[in-house]
Amino acid sequence: MIYLDYSATTPVSFEVLDSYNRTTKEFIGNANSIHGLGVKSKDLLNSATKQIADLFSVMESEITYTSGATESNNLALIGVALAYHKVGKHIIVSKLEHPSVYKICDYLASIGFEISYVNNDSEGLIDFDDLKKLVREDTILVSICAVNSETGVRQPLKMIRQIIKKENNNTILHSDITQAIGKISINFHDVDLASMSAHKIYGPKGIGLLYKNERVRLEPLLYGSGKSNDLHPGTPALPLIVSFAKAIRIALNDLDKREHFIERLNEKICKELEYYPVIKINKTKYSIPHILNISLMNIRPETFIHAMEEQDVYLSTNTACASGDISTSVMAIYNDKVRASSTIRISLSYLTTTDEINKFLNYFKMVYEKLNILVNK
Ligand code: PMP
Repeated sequence: MIYLDYSATTPVSFEVLDSYNRTTKEFIGNANSIHGLGVKSKDLLNSATKQIADLFSVMESEITYTSGATESNNLALIGVALAYHKVGKHIIVSKLEHPSVYKICDYLASIGFEISYVNNDSEGLIDFDDLKKLVREDTILVSICAVNSETGVRQPLKMIRQIIKKENNNTILHSDITQAIGKISINFHDVDLASMSAHKIYGPKGIGLLYKNERVRLEPLLYGSGKSNDLHPGTPALPLIVSFAKAIRIALNDLDKREHFIERLNEKICKELEYYPVIKINKTKYSIPHILNISLMNIRPETFIHAMEEQDVYLSTNTACASGDISTSVMAIYNDKVRASSTIRISLSYLTTTDEINKFLNYFKMVYEKLNILVNK
């Protein structure tokens, strides 16, 4: 098997799974229970949270566990909207967000919030002048993802923060950092809120977190019992949390070294793809190498993905969460419908080998030629 869909999800690493299994077996108590078994679980929960907080240089109280980035995004956007609606009802998002953010915005628009979509330039970078113009006195939130899930375009969060705060110091900045964490270094102090998922960093599925700066207020989306966190009541998912902490610790190691290696694999693919005159490479100077997006132009991406799957090679259309739709990100950058409706995402990992890329390129050639002949018949 050649797996090149690491941005959709990653395999759980051995150490992380081991940590999950050990916690499940050895810590049976509910962390909210007052007896010894509960206290033992609570202590482990606290130490996992401390480990995560230390790794991100934030406070333990600023971390809320969720079921994943979708829930974190919901809690961030809806939580801010409900907590600050008396201050203002204006929210700004980029045109390069994950579909989950747009769905939340549609909901917020339906209950009376005004959503503005900030422009980006032809390299995918946020248009700073447009952002400056859009921020108003009633702008309660700006949400801009750190790395776009389809094209890998990264945004300079620190600069974006400065622009926003200069216009309105009370406007809150949320960033969906799901595709950034474990790939590039992120400074949590550049944002007020940040969403992420464990399964993108070789952790288990079903756990994520929302970082919330202590000054930010959020209206909870869930109500229930449990003393651990008012924003996410109920029994803490201890094995998921402990193994998530381990996944984060491993993911933050050797970022530069891993990026350098992945860059070489990315360049190898791009160089080979230059021989296909019709194919367009949707890569800008801000794209990180882990995510490589291309447009086949004359072949339906679904057809191509399934033909590659027959060779045991796994890729994505735009994102796993929006398969079949036009790529909003490629459209926002290139403004070309054919290009945006024929995209394929090849996502790489430090686990990817040069041998896998060589084999992938051979299968790519074979499948492409076969389908191209069919198209041209
Ligand atoms: N945001 C981004 C940028 C993503 O790539 C994804 C996953 N494709 C999500 C949010 C949603 O994450 P999850 O499936 O863990 O809820």
